[in-house]
Amino acid sequence: MSFRVLCLVLMCVGRLSAQTVPDTMPTIIRAGRVFDSEKGTMSGPQEILVMKGRIESVGPTVTAPKGARIVDLSKYTVLPGLIDAHTHLLYLEDPKNGGALEGVKAVTIEGTPLRALHGAARARTFLAAGITTVRDLGNSGRFGDVALRTAIRDGSVDGPRMIVSGPGLSPPGGQFPGVQAGYQAIVDEEYRIVRGPADAALAVQENVSQGAQVIKIYSNNTPNPGALSPAELEAIVSTAKLLGVRVAAHATDDAAVWRAVSAGVNSIEHGYEVADSTLRMMAQKGVFLTPTDVDTLVAVAYAKAAGMEGPLPQGLVAYMQSERERLARAVKAGVPIAAGSDMYIALGMAQGAAARRVLFAYIQAGLTPAQVLQAATLNDARLLGFEDELGVIKPKAFADIIAVNGNPLDDFSAIERVVWVMKNGTIYKSP
Ligand SMILES: [Zn+2]
Repeated sequence: MSFRVLCLVLMCVGRLSAQTVPDTMPTIIRAGRVFDSEKGTMSGPQEILVMKGRIESVGPTVTAPKGARIVDLSKYTVLPGLIDAHTHLLYLEDPKNGGALEGVKAVTIEGTPLRALHGAARARTFLAAGITTVRDLGNSGRFGDVALRTAIRDGSVDGPRMIVSGPGLSPPGGQFPGVQAGYQAIVDEEYRIVRGPADAALAVQENVSQGAQVIKIYSNNTPNPGALSPAELEAIVSTAKLLGVRVAAHATDDAAVWRAVSAGVNSIEHGYEVADSTLRMMAQKGVFLTPTDVDTLVAVAYAKAAGMEGPLPQGLVAYMQSERERLARAVKAGVPIAAGSDMYIALGMAQGAAARRVLFAYIQAGLTPAQVLQAATLNDARLLGFEDELGVIKPKAFADIIAVNGNPLDDFSAIERVVWVMKNGTIYKSP
């Protein structure tokens, strides 16, 4: 390769990888109050010094380095950037059609490249909602999530930090019920169908080699009737440990939760029908529950989008009631709670704002505002393997910081008034 060609190549790479130049200017944030996620309390006025994408120091006053810019947030409450531990940025479902039809459409009509572009647009709405990190758990076609993660990381697209899984490891059929036997190749585009323990271990290796940072599995694959076997679950968990990644398990009924927890997964997604005895085992093993629950406002928006008229259907009300009761039981049993929305429904509102509503579902289940904020910061960071780096405002952590108008410990609706967003030291939203 001649020097001239080399220069051209380097210029191209440079241009491709630097659409948004990372902001490295030293910054002092003057905060009216700061949420301490480790203590679950609110402090008085504080200053935060940010250098090169990380928090350098925090205190009543900090020493300003030469040329530092001052960001005055003295009228606002400053918090660690919120984390959503269960997203599907590359999938959006029209509730009028139902999951299988919409899933097949995403694979066969929309396709992975367009899904990644749609995901990029949704990613911006998460950042605007104050969600600076997401754990994206599949339904992304063939590694469209890895592509979006990479584009955000290199600054080509604005969005939250993404921890991605690639295709979820599922029993036959995935989550597309009713697809005829001759068309299972459609399911294989969306899920990594597991056929025995050796294949399960291989699937983990494949996903990690393609860039997955977490493994998503379906202990049971509701609404289909399948289940991963205990031997498959064990092969997945031991291979994930070998490769240094964690395992998130979709599990809805108690037996599916029990098998996944017994095999050693790190989090249970949904867990709608989990029994108290299984919750006790989760608490003992430190397995997180991600309650992907629906709050009242989202339930009303869902019914409207699905074309239901009149008051909320009794079935939906009963479903929400059992979600809340299960979350209260989990908290009582001492299970660590991770905040995660699973918000993939088209509700006619910005997707990030819709996802943030899950926090209101937790409030409606009886958690305190401090507990909810800890779930969406400290606990999620621990589950994602970023303890002391995300979900906290303290020295050495990433400068993922947001400001809201009002004090969410007194009036939780303040969490919807996000006025300022910083991720990795770069400011994406200002008052
Ligand atoms: Zn999900």
